[in-house]
Amino acid sequence: MKRARSFRTAMRLLAVALLTALSLSSATSATTRPSTTTTSSLMAESTREALPTESSATTGLPAPAVPPESRIVIFHINDVHGKIDNFAKVAAILDAERKTGAQVFFFSAGDNFTGDPVVDQYDPPGEPMLEMLARLNLDVTALGNHEFDYGLEAVRRLAARFPIISANIQAPPGTLPGLKPWIALKAKDGTKLVVFSLIQIEPGNGLPSTHPDKLGDLRFSEPLSKALELKKLRAEGQVLIGLTHIGHEQDLILAGAMPEIDVIIGGHSHTRVDPAKIVNGVLVTQAGSDNLFLGRIDLFLKNGRVVEKTGRLVDLSQVKDEDPAVKAMLAKYHTNPALARVLIEAPFELTGKNALGCLFTDAMRAAHNLDIAFQNNGGIRINRLPKSITLKDVYTLDPFGNETVEIAMTAAEIRGLVKASFEKRKEIDLQVSGMTYLVRADAAKQVKSVQLNNLDGSPLAEDKTFKVGLSSYVATTYDFAHKDPGRSTRTLTVDDLIQYLKSAVDLGIYRDARRAFSEIESEPYRN
Ligand SMILES: [Zn+2]
Repeated sequence: MKRARSFRTAMRLLAVALLTALSLSSATSATTRPSTTTTSSLMAESTREALPTESSATTGLPAPAVPPESRIVIFHINDVHGKIDNFAKVAAILDAERKTGAQVFFFSAGDNFTGDPVVDQYDPPGEPMLEMLARLNLDVTALGNHEFDYGLEAVRRLAARFPIISANIQAPPGTLPGLKPWIALKAKDGTKLVVFSLIQIEPGNGLPSTHPDKLGDLRFSEPLSKALELKKLRAEGQVLIGLTHIGHEQDLILAGAMPEIDVIIGGHSHTRVDPAKIVNGVLVTQAGSDNLFLGRIDLFLKNGRVVEKTGRLVDLSQVKDEDPAVKAMLAKYHTNPALARVLIEAPFELTGKNALGCLFTDAMRAAHNLDIAFQNNGGIRINRLPKSITLKDVYTLDPFGNETVEIAMTAAEIRGLVKASFEKRKEIDLQVSGMTYLVRADAAKQVKSVQLNNLDGSPLAEDKTFKVGLSSYVATTYDFAHKDPGRSTRTLTVDDLIQYLKSAVDLGIYRDARRAFSEIESEPYRN
């Protein structure tokens, strides 16, 4: 028995080595080769007859027969972040493929939760997402960092409905019942898919990027070294899949280190990989984010080995078919009464980017005890807040799910940020709290000087370092020098706003509020 098994393992390793050597050349042709549903369904039919019988599996003879040929289709999503609307299209696609008789799987690479009020503000939070994934027959999900945002109770509700996997999370008994490092899934023809998962951890604190309070007593280890301990999984099935939530760059490193893996379906970095890459013989893919794309992988196996694999993304904006029953479910979720809840009554309607920007940045500053906070005009999506401000209004104002990032900055660095933002848009772009600024520019909108003042009009101290808050969008996409790399507060800017408005703040101060000014040469005073 033992000998037969290790012989098998040796043969598999040899096959892996051969496949690895061959994969680079086959990949190019593989990605362009169309796979039709007709072939896939025929294949499923024909291989069904080759299923190993009960007796051959229990005789103790080496290697239960695997189908001589097999075709598998894996649909995958990642970082959906509560965006459920396109699931009516996903349902239509999945159901159509299943109806052909194809062997269809549906995976999520994590971050199912957080980012849309319809799902986040539901009671209990996340429930519409769970109901949708159940309707779509999700086979397994990775745990993303944002799976923990609603607390462990919500992760337990997720685990009660779907297999959850993560190899680098150690959960004390009872914390996350159902959590496994990996699982095996069987296709109709007996082909076994072994799926493991990894969650990203932050270099600083070694924890996934969520509020540490949400993580309870969970322990996390470094994902890549954990993955290398899983090489032995190669022998557990015919297809080895990494369903990861560590970001595309890390997926590429993982592929380079572990040619034992057939497919890496990634998440976290929101990367649109289309077509899938082949790295070190490993197919690496990721389907963007926010349910805009559905990933599809086609695997073709011969004698229990993947001999051909392709991965591409379905652009859901181009899909017309929608499942009517799922559409009806979605309509029901959108009438969520929690969104109509009034957070605060304002003395007047708040109008214009300047007033709303002052409110927005004051909320960030108050929530994190900062000296100064900035938000860009593009991140303020409406020009008017009604007198009765509801939760829905706040999410319409700030729909992007950006976090507040804290960076220690000098006055010179702040000046550089303001200058870069003005030159980017050729006009005032950053709203501010905790200070005011005046940009002087020439007629071509080249910045000549940036004056920074305290709220009382005195100049900002040049020799001091300030605790500055930026939305993660500004922090990551604006080109400005700062010595301190900064750190996420792990709080969404929208949650800063909700907290601020709930605190019964005096909104009267925002009538005609303005803190960012510019003077353009050859224009008198710019308003
Ligand atoms: Zn993530």
